[in-house]
Amino acid sequence: MNFEQFSLDRRIGAAIKTVGYTTPTPIQQQAIPVVLQGRDVLGLAQTGTGKTAAFLLPILQRLTRGPLRRVRVLIVAPTRELAEQIRQMSVDLGQNTKVHSVSIYGGVGKGPQVAALQRGAEIVVACPGRLLDLLGDGSINLSHVEVLVLDEADRMCDMGFLPDIRRIIKRLPARRQTLFFGATMPDDIRALADNILDNPTTVQIGVIAPAKTVSHALYPVPHNLKKKLLLALLSQTRMGRVLIFTRTKYRARNLARDLAKRRYRASALQGNMSQNQRQRAIDGFRNGKYDILVATDVAARGIDVTQITHVINFDIPDTVDAYTHRIGRTGRVDQTGEAYTFVAEADSQMVRAIEKVLGAQIERRRVSNFDYGDFKPEGYSSQRRSNQPRQTQSNRQRGQGRSYTARSKSSARSRRKPAQPHPNKQRV
Ligand code: AMP
Repeated sequence: MNFEQFSLDRRIGAAIKTVGYTTPTPIQQQAIPVVLQGRDVLGLAQTGTGKTAAFLLPILQRLTRGPLRRVRVLIVAPTRELAEQIRQMSVDLGQNTKVHSVSIYGGVGKGPQVAALQRGAEIVVACPGRLLDLLGDGSINLSHVEVLVLDEADRMCDMGFLPDIRRIIKRLPARRQTLFFGATMPDDIRALADNILDNPTTVQIGVIAPAKTVSHALYPVPHNLKKKLLLALLSQTRMGRVLIFTRTKYRARNLARDLAKRRYRASALQGNMSQNQRQRAIDGFRNGKYDILVATDVAARGIDVTQITHVINFDIPDTVDAYTHRIGRTGRVDQTGEAYTFVAEADSQMVRAIEKVLGAQIERRRVSNFDYGDFKPEGYSSQRRSNQPRQTQSNRQRGQGRSYTARSKSSARSRRKPAQPHPNKQRV
């Protein structure tokens, strides 16, 4: 299998060689011929599968013909980091063509984005909020859009963007090709897909479960010993690039600061940082200035850094989808990776849910020569005890209904508030 089978324009073929792709990934093998035929696609693929090039290559092929300097392709993505990453990949793969792309997102001035649109671009990669803003003041014309891509549609829905997406779609020509990608397909996303796709071809990579190239381990630990355990683990384990996830931006900032004080080359990536600071953190992680990036879920969306050897969930995520997305950052394409999750007693329900999706129990590990005090990591069980009440959505949101120990009560209090509906209002 190679890229020649798709008979892409030779300029695109040359760029594929330059960026170093030799074999199409499974999603590329499935999706590229279908997109080239002009058909709608429902793509079920997580990050790390090569899905961005799967839609960009046939899009670039389309753009080698037809009018230039008007918006013919609209790609909508949940975060600026992802939008920037998609735009960069379109620049890399389109480097020998005349195609121009512009990314559009909030948090930075509108002026340069409007100016770039005025100079003329065929591809616009946009986050919903700023796109609606520019549509509102007439700075962008979407009446010539031939292809709409919704990337990480499930995540956009989680972030409360669904109404914005519906409004954007109303502004597009009805006759168009639509490519719809998500790692998961919850009901509301399925309904949106059914509504906007015309007789789509479904392309799916495996079951929707965390990537198989990643091995998983749980580290049971009391909440108050997490930082010490992390330091012990970092000092005892050979790691390359490490991405650590925390529940809040404050925890990300503080943990990165503590690691840097101990002479680890670490940076935070969280929503209180300016766009420039975030980009510097991502670039530093990519080019080796930092070995460790401590991030929150939303800030980490779209980080395209290969060779992440370890993802460490310092705090377990709130949903199985978030777990899948987090660990999708390691084990990308042909590499293998390790996903370590620190678990306190109160996390057992989430552990059960993750294990159900993985279809296996995750190995429990203890860090040798680490003083756990009275805590017995080997005693950690994700099984519901008979006196442990089953949680409902409402009591989970109130932070009740778990069989907390005295120690984990404080962690229960500090647990995250229910997700904010709109990331433009609260960027995490
Ligand atoms: P994505 O799933 O689109 O986020 O891509 C994950 C990573 O895989 C990115 O770093 C891409 O540059 C890389 N990639 C995409 N396609 C290929 C390919 N055919 N061979 C090797 N790497 C690839």
